Amino acid sequence: MSALPGSNLSLEELDRQTLMHPCTSIMLHEQTGPIIYSDASGVTVRGEHGREMIDFGAGLWCVNVGYGREQLANAAAQAMRDLSYFHLFGSASHESAIHLADQLLSLFHETTGAGHLTRAFFGTSGSDANDTAYKLVRYYNNLLGREKKKKFISRIGAYHGVTYAAAGLTGIPLYHTAFDLPQDGVIHADCPHYYRFSRPGEDEAAFTNRLISNLKDIISREGADTIAAFIAEPVMGTGGVVLPPKGYLKAVQDILRENDILFIVDEVITGFGRLGSWFGTGHYDLQPDIVSLAKGVTSAYFPLSANLISERVWEVFSASSAKTGPVMHGFTYSGHPVGCAVALANISLLKSERLVENSAKMGRHFHARLTERLSDNPYVGDIRGEGLMLAVEFVADKATRRFFSAGTYPHRVVARKAMDENLLVRPLPFIDVTSFSPPLSITSEEIDEGVERYARGLEAAMPTLRELANQ
Ligand code: PLP
Repeated sequence: MSALPGSNLSLEELDRQTLMHPCTSIMLHEQTGPIIYSDASGVTVRGEHGREMIDFGAGLWCVNVGYGREQLANAAAQAMRDLSYFHLFGSASHESAIHLADQLLSLFHETTGAGHLTRAFFGTSGSDANDTAYKLVRYYNNLLGREKKKKFISRIGAYHGVTYAAAGLTGIPLYHTAFDLPQDGVIHADCPHYYRFSRPGEDEAAFTNRLISNLKDIISREGADTIAAFIAEPVMGTGGVVLPPKGYLKAVQDILRENDILFIVDEVITGFGRLGSWFGTGHYDLQPDIVSLAKGVTSAYFPLSANLISERVWEVFSASSAKTGPVMHGFTYSGHPVGCAVALANISLLKSERLVENSAKMGRHFHARLTERLSDNPYVGDIRGEGLMLAVEFVADKATRRFFSAGTYPHRVVARKAMDENLLVRPLPFIDVTSFSPPLSITSEEIDEGVERYARGLEAAMPTLRELANQ
């Protein structure tokens, strides 16, 4: 039945008249209408009229085990029958939340060596996980009587979500405009994107040194006694698939330790195999105080997020518990039994099908194919990636590394042409970068086919790119 009384509208028109879409231009949506998807399996999603597309995005970097997996559907159905819902407030608990907390901590211990992470807290999205981290850091410093130590350092180009605290931590101005963000007390350090922001003649080591000086300058300007935490994605996702320059993360960690600043590692994308190893924490030898997880924890079959908390932070909470009373933070859906059961089935699938290993192997293949097919193109400036988190960055003039003018969006043109070839890729919102992050179950044949479609899309976009390059 239609939501609009007496109307007999098409699905497209009903969408236009009733739905507010996330991160969507209202004007463009009114013009073009929705693209409606109906079902999906493996790496393929199907739209109306049976149109089949290869999804090189895995949705929003999240369907790690691929679409349509029976094991996860069965786990969800069984969980709904067993204990459709119960909360974790006031010491209530249930089996799947307990097992999932144990599994996540064990996985971290086994695959990253981060045995100092000893507690798990559950939420429902990457954004709320970062808001939880933000609040827990403040809680920690308040319990320690450090009332001034409240500021957060994030980075230009970072993406940490859209809830209020997380959106402020995000370092992409588009997410701040008209929302009165970032809030006071959030500072954005320089973006660690070598290809885009290095100066002429500056090698990677010198670039890293400049980033580290910038961080030190911020700390000495603000005072270490006012800075609570530093938050970072091991590889920036939405900001452009930005791999950390050599030596950068280690140097950052040393500075944080020297200045007693907590380290929040946002593994919302990088967790659960995306980089070809289980977690960015292990991949880059990080020692986080708090970790944020979401997306791949359930392969997005159910909204679930988690924060892993270090013993150092937990001890402070625990030691003052008798005095402070309950920690008044938590959601109705924290540790939802269906989500926890899906996460357990998902982790089991990632292990039994060796999908993390496949991510490393297919990532190498993907990178090689992109290089082979695209590197001669005059507007493809950089091809980069780690595991199955890859990207192409566009440039107006390769020789001089002159970028396209702001607002021309060449990567969006290519993405639209790729869509005409039945390929879904993500043009990112910060700089002219298209990301590729397919399900970790992808095969080399599917990669080859998708890269061919992308190459055809790029070819079709060339006349427009030539015009844009001169603007
Ligand atoms: N953190 C990172 C690194 C992300 O990439 C995202 C989403 O893309 C988020 C946080 C926010 O997650 P959600 O959209 O589930 O709130």
